[in-house]
Amino acid sequence: MTTWTDRTDDRVGDRPLSLAAASGIDRAAHHRLDEAWLAAAWSHPTTRAFVVSGGQVLIDETEDGSTELVMTPSFEAPLTEAHRYFLGTDGDGVSYFALQKDSLPGRMDQSARAAGLREAGLLLSPRDAGLMAHAVALENWQRLHRFCSRCGERTVITAAGHIRRCPACGAEHYPRTDPAVIMLVTDHEDRALLGRQMHWPEGRFSTLAGFVEPGESIEQSVRREVWEEAGVEVGEVEYVASQPWPFPSSLMLGFMARAVSSKITVDGEEISEARWFSRDELRAAFESGEVLPPYGISIAARLIELWYGEPVPRPGATPA
Ligand SMILES: [Zn+2]
Repeated sequence: MTTWTDRTDDRVGDRPLSLAAASGIDRAAHHRLDEAWLAAAWSHPTTRAFVVSGGQVLIDETEDGSTELVMTPSFEAPLTEAHRYFLGTDGDGVSYFALQKDSLPGRMDQSARAAGLREAGLLLSPRDAGLMAHAVALENWQRLHRFCSRCGERTVITAAGHIRRCPACGAEHYPRTDPAVIMLVTDHEDRALLGRQMHWPEGRFSTLAGFVEPGESIEQSVRREVWEEAGVEVGEVEYVASQPWPFPSSLMLGFMARAVSSKITVDGEEISEARWFSRDELRAAFESGEVLPPYGISIAARLIELWYGEPVPRPGATPA
């Protein structure tokens, strides 16, 4: 039978899995508590910094037509009142920092523009997308965890953005990541089960997904979610690849799952409609416009493509 596991760096057409390709950045976590090292790294002439604000960064087109994260030497970076996150170093020893600020800096050259991760994740190199995902995830966590969950006191940022410490009770709080499962279910005829969420536009179909609950394995979570949302029973479950999904703090765990029943009963709450598609049916539905292609950056598109066998149409980058 087909084995799907570890397709992270696989490509269908020319596209790697967004936000999950090797970024070439060493997070160098052992430096995060070393203030002297961080100060030296910050003042080093090769160090690069970028501003993250409200989940957005500045991106710009290069002369060769690719898109890059707008970074400046750290000594030019606007540090005042900023929260400074150390993101790591690359193979050339260059250190990277993100500065969390209330707004993005104005740019003299007008080609640079603000972009969120849903858009930039499709356009940036794996290195830049990885740096941005790290910074956005930290910013989201910082924004939502300003107070100690043990005693309620305001916490302070340490470890170059990676720990919040409580001065009252001494508790240390770490960035959280919430596991979510996302799965392409196939049946005995090798048709794929795609569903439409209540709030999606007409015609948008994708894989089913949901959060892992307390006390649950990820395999149990896949089976429960498919049963709850579509009333389909799942047997075999195989892990494929994962993808950071900092909206605000998820990690998407992607699976192929095999149905042992085919009757569909949607829950009518999260999922309004679900259907089995053969490859020919899905191709025809894309061509007629009856089904809109899956959302660009998501691992959902890649799971569908692994089954479909070729790139599916993409709606393109969507500003967020
Ligand atoms: Zn506390």
